[in-house]
Amino acid sequence: ERDWRIFREDYNITIKGGRIPNPIRNWKESNIADNIIEIINKVGYDEPTPIQRQAIPIGLLNRDIIGVAETGSGKTLAFLIPLLVWIGSLPKVEFAATVDQDQGPYAIILAPTRELAQQIEEETNKFGTPLGIRTVAVIGGLSREEQGFRLRMGCEIVIATPGRLIDVLENRYLVLNQCTYIVLDEADRMIDMGFEGDVQKILDFMPVTNQKPDTEEAEDENALMKNFYSKNKYRQTVMFTATMPPA
Ligand code: ADP
Ligand code: MG
Repeated sequence: ERDWRIFREDYNITIKGGRIPNPIRNWKESNIADNIIEIINKVGYDEPTPIQRQAIPIGLLNRDIIGVAETGSGKTLAFLIPLLVWIGSLPKVEFAATVDQDQGPYAIILAPTRELAQQIEEETNKFGTPLGIRTVAVIGGLSREEQGFRLRMGCEIVIATPGRLIDVLENRYLVLNQCTYIVLDEADRMIDMGFEGDVQKILDFMPVTNQKPDTEEAEDENALMKNFYSKNKYRQTVMFTATMPPA
């Protein structure tokens, strides 16, 4: 315990919350699957950044998290790795009865601007494409029809700006009946730009809430949470931000 406290101090990692797993010392010793480590090595990320060291093991337990770290500190990969691992763990769909029902998306990543959404899409594809995980960006600039066409092709992850996502949801180009995982990136800027109401609206389109299981009698809270989340019974809500304003 003392060693981990020193480790966290060395990397300037502060934690708040219960039963927080140990940070990652290096990629190899982490719980991340070999095929993902291989991609990380290929991309050339030798060491995890501090936010990645602490946020990834929490994310791998499918727990909600608010991750705060300065711009340029690698927050994208901090939320991407647990998300990709989770998608990889979902039961494979043999064939789709209807595209709407069986082809996802299983997760949404929200960003405040089109440029940020495109950067996230690039990073997601760098890691997700070799794993067979497909993304569609729902951002301004495409016609509704073109956007609808891309969505009908099927994808596991939608990366979107709030306004445009609400537009495609309200016009039924996209259904979130399988989507139980949401990442709010640059949450501080999202608040600044007045997207709080839009975010709430998007959460209301999702099939489950973040109501937590009763863990009173649980022997191992993390194992229980993982069990509940992996069955998609509850929403997993992940938030990353550079600053932490009260709102
Ligand atoms: P943030 O979202 O915190 O501003 P990003 O996720 O955009 O930061 O990452 C900033 C830059 O650092 C990107 O160019 C990314 O490719 C790079 N990066 C991310 N993780 C690592 C790592 N572990 N080692 C080296 N570079 C990394
Ligand atoms: Mg970022």
